Amino acid sequence: MISLDSSDFARTLVAWQQRFGRRDLPWQGQDPYRVWVSEIMLQQTQVATVIPYFARFLARFPTVEALAAAALEEVLAVWSGLGYYARARHLHAAARHIVAAGAFPRTPEGWAALPGVGRSTAAAICAFCFHARVPILDGNVKRVLARYAAIPDPIDTPATERRLWQLAEALLPDDPALMPAYTQAQMDLGALVCVRGTPHCKHCPVAAMCQARAQGIAAELPQKRHRALVAEHTLTLHRFRLGERWWWVLRPRTGIWAGLWCLPQAPQAPTLPQSSATPLPLPPPQVPLQPPPLQAPPGQWRAGKCWFLTEHRLTHRRLHLYVQDWVARFSDEWGLNEANEQGFAIQEPMPPLAQGAEEAERGTKPFAAKSTMPRFADAEGKDRGEVPSAGRWATPQEALAWGLPQPLRRWIEQELKAQNARFCGKIDLQRNDGEFGKDGGAPILRKLSRQIRDGF
Ligand code: SF4
Repeated sequence: MISLDSSDFARTLVAWQQRFGRRDLPWQGQDPYRVWVSEIMLQQTQVATVIPYFARFLARFPTVEALAAAALEEVLAVWSGLGYYARARHLHAAARHIVAAGAFPRTPEGWAALPGVGRSTAAAICAFCFHARVPILDGNVKRVLARYAAIPDPIDTPATERRLWQLAEALLPDDPALMPAYTQAQMDLGALVCVRGTPHCKHCPVAAMCQARAQGIAAELPQKRHRALVAEHTLTLHRFRLGERWWWVLRPRTGIWAGLWCLPQAPQAPTLPQSSATPLPLPPPQVPLQPPPLQAPPGQWRAGKCWFLTEHRLTHRRLHLYVQDWVARFSDEWGLNEANEQGFAIQEPMPPLAQGAEEAERGTKPFAAKSTMPRFADAEGKDRGEVPSAGRWATPQEALAWGLPQPLRRWIEQELKAQNARFCGKIDLQRNDGEFGKDGGAPILRKLSRQIRDGF
């Protein structure tokens, strides 16, 4: 007879956790700040990924006071790469609540009242830090319990969720002192043994009590409702380049990628091709809302290439991301020059209305001042008038230190890696061919420096 007896289940799990569970994680202990930060990071992210981010986050924000005092932008920058940035925004907002209250909450209800803290996270924090006898029910635990009790119903319905909470409550150990080990044991069992797909039942401490195993249906559970189709969106990221720098804008505080630095973007309604195997067409160039200003001398933006970057999945949306390149052109007494193709490409951002003396001082001739009015022209050359100055110039390498949307960060990192590999390959190739010896390598170095400058 299969047992759902709470003392058997809890005692067995705790004993197993002491021998085989994870007991050296950097946040383990009773410090509410460390436990809370780790629990938020572990939502939707695996332990191995979280560990280095946790160390970096704690090094920069060692206390809740330090976190509350920081600017949101800095918190997002330290979080950058971990994804699901709403977690960082909630962490920051909750830190301010805690500091204003003067102490950490001590009850699940108190924690659950903070932004970003749900019932299961609140319970985990209180079980670890205060030995509270409260159940957790994250994704892993839902899977374990659905199998343990062989629940055939979809686990993402309110009715099944209620049933799982009741089961989790019923299985709690009687002794509150066991709560930290028991809570960790459930997490470890779901992550290490009762995994998605085919569970490792042979190594499971509660295999003898598991109903799904007894019925031979462990791999078929848990069941989920059929998900609704995600909405498809197309987004164009506009890359304005001036020398090696790109133009970055801060996203609004709400909506997709809220509060992160991003390339200016414009939504693009997808136009399905008439007869083509291509799943999505390249969107035509589109004038973004806030192009960067081109200061003196008067400049224009010329549309460059446009290409499909990647497909990015959000919770309920799928984004098809494109990149549209824009190249700066400046007029001077020698005609219209493209900054990216001239040896004297601008390396520093031009401050608004910086004219005459300042530019002469910086030695930016031949970009000598002619006008104080930055102009913007679209792909057809149509004058779009004076443009606002909102954003900042920075190289992609510099931008990696900020909070960036995940696909943009991944793209930059991949390109930088490829660029380094290309650079090393060229050096090796040229060295093997002995070309460096012919004329001191000057043409090759010029070519390489051009490739580094223009290759990305
Ligand atoms: S016996 Fe298998 S299905 Fe049952 S709880 Fe253990 S790992 Fe999961």
